[in-house]
Amino acid sequence: MESRDEIKVSLMTKRNQMKGKITRTTGFQDFKDRVFVLTRDKLSYYEGNLSKRGKLKGEILLASVKVAEKVDDGSLPKDNCFQVCYEDSLNLYIMANDAKEQEEWVSLMQEACKNNRGLLPMFHCGVWQGSRWSCCEQVDKNAPGCKQAFSQRSPTDMTNGKSTTNNGPPTPRNITKMPLPPPPVPAHAKRELPAPPPAKVVVAVYDYDPSQPGDLQLKKGEEYTITDDSRTHWWKALNREGTQGFIPSNYVQEKTEKGLIGEGWYCKDMSRQRAEALLKSEDKEGCFLVRDSTASPGTLTVSVLCKTPQTTVRHYHIKQNPRDSKYFLSEKYTFPTIPELIHYHQHNGGGLVTRLRSPPAALTGYAPVTLGFSQDKWEIQSTELTLMKPLGSGQFGVVRLGKLQGRTLVAVKTMREGSMCEDDFIQEAKTMTKLQHPNLVQLYGVSFKDRPIQIVTEYMCNGNLSSYLRSKGRELAEDRSPLVDMCHQVCCGMEYLERNKFIHRDLAARNCLVGEHNIVKVSDFGLARYVLDDEYTSSTGSKFPIKWASPEVLEFSRFSSKSDIWAFGILMWEVFTLGKTPYPNLNTTDVVRQVTHGKHLDRPQRCPHAVYRIMKQCWEKDPLRRPTFKELQVQIEDIQEKDYCE
Ligand code: ADP
Repeated sequence: MESRDEIKVSLMTKRNQMKGKITRTTGFQDFKDRVFVLTRDKLSYYEGNLSKRGKLKGEILLASVKVAEKVDDGSLPKDNCFQVCYEDSLNLYIMANDAKEQEEWVSLMQEACKNNRGLLPMFHCGVWQGSRWSCCEQVDKNAPGCKQAFSQRSPTDMTNGKSTTNNGPPTPRNITKMPLPPPPVPAHAKRELPAPPPAKVVVAVYDYDPSQPGDLQLKKGEEYTITDDSRTHWWKALNREGTQGFIPSNYVQEKTEKGLIGEGWYCKDMSRQRAEALLKSEDKEGCFLVRDSTASPGTLTVSVLCKTPQTTVRHYHIKQNPRDSKYFLSEKYTFPTIPELIHYHQHNGGGLVTRLRSPPAALTGYAPVTLGFSQDKWEIQSTELTLMKPLGSGQFGVVRLGKLQGRTLVAVKTMREGSMCEDDFIQEAKTMTKLQHPNLVQLYGVSFKDRPIQIVTEYMCNGNLSSYLRSKGRELAEDRSPLVDMCHQVCCGMEYLERNKFIHRDLAARNCLVGEHNIVKVSDFGLARYVLDDEYTSSTGSKFPIKWASPEVLEFSRFSSKSDIWAFGILMWEVFTLGKTPYPNLNTTDVVRQVTHGKHLDRPQRCPHAVYRIMKQCWEKDPLRRPTFKELQVQIEDIQEKDYCE
């Protein structure tokens, strides 16, 4: 039975895919009949037949399709074959029952995938014969295709496998030979794709220079219409000139009725701690910003730095008069829009502790840096990398500063051979590139065609948090808010991992990195699983991070988000001791004894009681009694300046 969102259903023959394996035999030796089902976002195939569909055997996300074309090869046991290439070099060959069915499927697939990112310009219309392509005699399986793909052809060329030989522009001589448009698809097959959701308008919050063909340039403050937001991180957008392309979704914000996006002083997702830390680091009287209030969602807060009699940050809610909907900070001065209100207070104190002057220059540093590259791209070629100075070395090998594609600064971790379980990691890396959060070090991709493997991540100019605290700690500790802010940032990154059911397993200050303006990001998440060194993985090993391990990890190697919570408590302790090693005078046996007997680290000298209370919750012996990162996030947000003096 076809359901409403099924565009086409056919019983056809599929070749065994032998994913990733190169077969020595030639041709199509393994075929199965499957029920193929095309929906708006997937091509799925099932066991069974048209009247009784069996088990789901596989599915391909249409967004991952790179080629959908006919196959034209005399060596095939059946005619009417077409191919779907998807993800990274996976090929599905399907044999339709007749030419009409083949035509319909290719046409529908091309229509459904025509806006895909990563469509290949060329394809092979033959098959790989074990040592060469039957269509072009090339002997490299990965050799680029020899025929222009549908993405490059004009609509009138589309779907007609044979017509692709006629790629030149129409001239008087060949115009009569121009292929006819595809035959009309019968009504039952040509079910219209559901209409896309209504377009939304966004404003660019940061400039973006395209890094891949098909990307669209963003100019801060300009408006764009989103035409496809079905993927999380890359949206398709139209600019004012009508050019369409992909943009990173976290570089834009939806236009709000308040019309604040693009204002230099507005920062949507900023915690009070971050605002205080930023304003204090700028250290200028009247330095201010406007943010969404964490305490009362839906309202906005103006945070402003005042230096007399002593340096403090004051927070004012922007209120709205219920009678005329006008905005105000002080009831005497009301304004129809927030920009007008801010403009007024930039020129008059109007009851505030100080006149608003300018937003912190560092506000742009709050940008979520880059969001990586196209969602599909995670395999990086070593030729795309230029290696520069060493940044440090660790468990797996040396980390160097590098440039990707000659323009983006990155960190490149060259894995010492034998230090990690490479195949498993490569599989996992693809998933890890999709973990994206402003407080996680972005994994851009992995270069693994040549050995040694290289892991390419976002570059963080201030190195690891532990060393940073030791060198810059005194400066930071003059006021406690940067320290609370750092803990809050790590907590936000960890809350994202917790939400995505991803366990870090080695959270510690040494595995967090610091960027500009004290931005802290969690790094090396999940890597511990692929380490091959027993000294590191076994809880009795000399390199095992015992001082960050919870009792259930020490006793049963039971890792969970709750064991990450324990480690987070230790990390908070590291932050408030400005980078001291926990349990400074204890050897590992004593640490284990102390932890299993429920004795905790003492409160660091400069640690407010409110912060120490949070640490202690992380060190509950029973993992179930420990809070979640979500809960901790709220608690840290609740810490007020007055708590520092407790
Ligand atoms: P390993 O995981 O092999 O133990 P690390 O990831 O800890 O290695 O890296 C070693 C050191 O290299 C870090 O302590 C840090 O100083 C530096 N480093 C690592 N990654 C980056 C990065 N993305 N940006 C800047 N410095 C980095």
